[in-house]
Amino acid sequence: MYELNICHLYPDLLNLYGDRGNIIALKMRCKWRGINANVSDISIGDKFDAEAYDIIFLGGGQDYEQEMIQNDLLNEKGEEIRNAVKNDKVFLAICGGYQLLGSYYKTWDGKEIHFLNALNLWTVGGKERMIGNFVFECDFLKNDNYDGKIVGFENHSGRTYLGPEVKPLGKIVKGYGNNGEDGFEGAIYKNVYCSYSHGSLLPKNPALADHLISIALKQKYKDFESLSSIDDEFENLAHDTMVKRITG
Ligand code: GLN
Repeated sequence: MYELNICHLYPDLLNLYGDRGNIIALKMRCKWRGINANVSDISIGDKFDAEAYDIIFLGGGQDYEQEMIQNDLLNEKGEEIRNAVKNDKVFLAICGGYQLLGSYYKTWDGKEIHFLNALNLWTVGGKERMIGNFVFECDFLKNDNYDGKIVGFENHSGRTYLGPEVKPLGKIVKGYGNNGEDGFEGAIYKNVYCSYSHGSLLPKNPALADHLISIALKQKYKDFESLSSIDDEFENLAHDTMVKRITG
């Protein structure tokens, strides 16, 4: 029987707008297929051994929470996280969690918070927040039955910019995304997937949830080929309803 170990980093501090739903979606979509999924919560002061996990999740947090975890993040867990990224570990990071994988975050009121530098990206705060439901399109998810559209909710003042080796997760159809300027949303680097999408992201975007589960299983089991299909009637209804509402 296949098994995945999922780590939720700082679940008590980085968990905005239902981000924990991503963990539930990953766990349930494994369980419905007979794949065992264990979830560990790791926060400030807890020992973190990245090798023990197959998927590492970081949710969103406001500037305040990001500052609160800064010390533990940089001094206790930073090296582990950077090495895990280098070694192709699967990550999902949302909003504040996405920002802190980058090199720094300059807040809208001028504070500079140093972050992990695990990915070549950086964030600069603006006075105006980027808020609303949004839709973007991921080429790597497109197939004959699916147009690759992802739906979510964004609320951030940070504008994120990507270095050349980091690719965007998708192209904005409606909304702001990374910075409201270049038309891109999120980031992909090795097996690290980042997005501004709360809402939460995975329950109503099952194709992305399955993509993450698949790459984690491929990393772990040589004989793994593909996931069995499951009934996504409700997930697709939520997804399609939101896409229609947002794009008009
Ligand atoms: N503090 C960050 C910002 O406002 C992240 C907010 C969030 O995670 N929603 O840009």
